[in-house]
Amino acid sequence: MSSNGSNEKYDFFFKVVLVGDSGVGKSNIVFRFTKNDFNKDNNRLVKAQIWDTAGQERYRSIASSYYRGAAGALLCYDITDRKSFENVPTWLKEVEENAEKECLIMLVGNKMDLNEMREVDVRDGRSFARKNGLAFIETSALDATGVETAFQRILQEIYNTQARKQL
Ligand code: GDP
Repeated sequence: MSSNGSNEKYDFFFKVVLVGDSGVGKSNIVFRFTKNDFNKDNNRLVKAQIWDTAGQERYRSIASSYYRGAAGALLCYDITDRKSFENVPTWLKEVEENAEKECLIMLVGNKMDLNEMREVDVRDGRSFARKNGLAFIETSALDATGVETAFQRILQEIYNTQARKQL
């Protein structure tokens, strides 16, 4: 089934936004994740609408409408750029201030293919995520490692949360 058709049928529709410093790989992560639908138990079609900042973050002016209705947020940094990791708390604050309370946040350490240039230990990412109640994954948009898993995990988690609410 096409992921882009506007009149297709689906059971759930979730908006997921990407945030993080410019250059960490957000556009490439979205590009990698081209298959936007996945089946749950073979009978529930979940459609994800993925929002990329399209460079707005360079001007520190992401409109609050960007976050409106987001069920999930991928908060991205670059494992070879310490500064992008140091800015994570600022991004987290922005998401928390602008998104709905239920918005699930996953911390994403991208560019893991550049391990020899690593400036952020995987334990630092994991520990920040744990302290702040976020999910965590490292990815490479270049060789596609972890990208599908990142989206599937956050969508699954969103789905579980929504399903629980409907019980
Ligand atoms: P954005 O500004 O966060 O959307 O970042 P982009 O997706 O435009 O990526 C910025 C730069 O990083 C580009 O030159 C990409 O080719 C490169 N890049 C993105 N993801 C990866 C990755 O996983 N590994 C490597 N080696 N380069 C990446």
